[in-house]
Amino acid sequence: MKQTIEDFKQYVERITMFKQAMAILAFDSNTIAPDGGLEQRAKRSGFFELEIFNMYISETMKQHLDALAPHISSLDDDVKAMYRLCKDKYDSGTKIPPELVKEFAELTEESSKAWENARKNANFAEFAPFLKRLVDLQKKLLEYRADEMPVDGTAYDILLDDYEDDMTTEKYDKFFEGLKAVIVPLIKKVLASEKKIDTSFRNFKVDTSTQRKIAEFIANKVGYDLNCGYIGESEHPFSCGSDSTDARITTNYHEDDFISSLYSVLHECGHAIYEQGASENLVGTYLGEGGTMGMHESQSRFYENVIGRSLPFWQSITNELKELLPDEFSHVTPLMFYEFSNQVKNSFIRIEADELTYCLHVIIRYEIEKMLFSGNCEVDDLPNIWNQKYQEYLDITPTDDAVGVLQDVHWSEGLFGYFPSYALGSAYAAQFLSYMQKDFNLDETILNGDFSKIRSWLREKIHAHGCMYTTEELMKREFGEQLDVKHYAEYLNNKYGKLYGLT
Ligand code: ZN
Repeated sequence: MKQTIEDFKQYVERITMFKQAMAILAFDSNTIAPDGGLEQRAKRSGFFELEIFNMYISETMKQHLDALAPHISSLDDDVKAMYRLCKDKYDSGTKIPPELVKEFAELTEESSKAWENARKNANFAEFAPFLKRLVDLQKKLLEYRADEMPVDGTAYDILLDDYEDDMTTEKYDKFFEGLKAVIVPLIKKVLASEKKIDTSFRNFKVDTSTQRKIAEFIANKVGYDLNCGYIGESEHPFSCGSDSTDARITTNYHEDDFISSLYSVLHECGHAIYEQGASENLVGTYLGEGGTMGMHESQSRFYENVIGRSLPFWQSITNELKELLPDEFSHVTPLMFYEFSNQVKNSFIRIEADELTYCLHVIIRYEIEKMLFSGNCEVDDLPNIWNQKYQEYLDITPTDDAVGVLQDVHWSEGLFGYFPSYALGSAYAAQFLSYMQKDFNLDETILNGDFSKIRSWLREKIHAHGCMYTTEELMKREFGEQLDVKHYAEYLNNKYGKLYGLT
């Protein structure tokens, strides 16, 4: 048995090496790679993608899985996890005819370009034919995977599960209903309040070289290890890396909005600190990266929102920050920064939304995807449905498709079922906060600048495990509970109640 396990681990390590190389290539391609190399780069990543795919579905993989299957219950947690993750890949990879996989990959290349142009022209009709083909093809792929559908479930459940193990429409419905019941009345109260927020420093200019220093200052402050990390620049901020030894982030600097970059750095630091926290013995194994999308987002939102959008955070950094900022900011107090970065308003764009209205943007997308995959609406109806839902939930109607139905890249890349993880992450972040508060007072800790205490706590409970456990397993093991929207509700009510003086 020992040899069987060793052989399997070695084979999986081979896949890991390829995946890590791909991650570094992806970082390169999204940051500094020259335009002239685009074609050859696409070929190269296609080649490696295929190599990885073939390793997952190979006869060798099948032999390893078959040899381990009868002994599953007696295997160590790490081997069990590798088995589960590889078995998933093997099953889904062998179920679908390879020509459909190829067709889907080619279609997403085309549709991404079509989406970019359509968004530029604010014209959904240009993108609609591609989206129709994507939805049809996705539905066809789901037919091959019908055995993955939960009892009484729908095809959309299979997509949800791709990004979040064990999540279903039924669970999300309950989660979002609970959330709506809190958020909708709270937003009404906030918007009706008399509270005025000072935004006079909104467009004060901060040059890019200063912002680079601020990014480094913030990263060091919260404990992102730059010895095993790097802050690059890209159009859309992201994080990416191989494992705890190399977890990189990017940001985007706008001279008239330094706060935007500050928060994107905090967000991506949350992702990278998660990766850097995986336990040492997971380096180079298949398990050295973070868990699901929802778990990853919980860490990024924890750093961005729970820590970064708190008053103690601004109190703890403002003096040092002002040494870097131009003199114009000299009158801005921590309270002013805090209120400014938490201002609630109904807006069109998800990624620019405040913490409170953010989940409504996600709920809208979830409801639309559900309709689309149950055949309750057609692609051509989407702009209307989108605008109606924005009117219903946020009391505004997008002025054109670019700030409406065309704003997100996800559908053009064939990512359906992905959005709900964002809301899940925010809810988990608040839940972790309530557990952390039992061990120490977070506000005080932030005020004292003791960010390593926070990082150690998260590391021990969450980061150290890499992707060894499913989210449900990890929650049970570390906290003895599952996702409960009440923590998030309490967090939002508390925070915005205080900020807007609600009773
Ligand atoms: Zn993120």
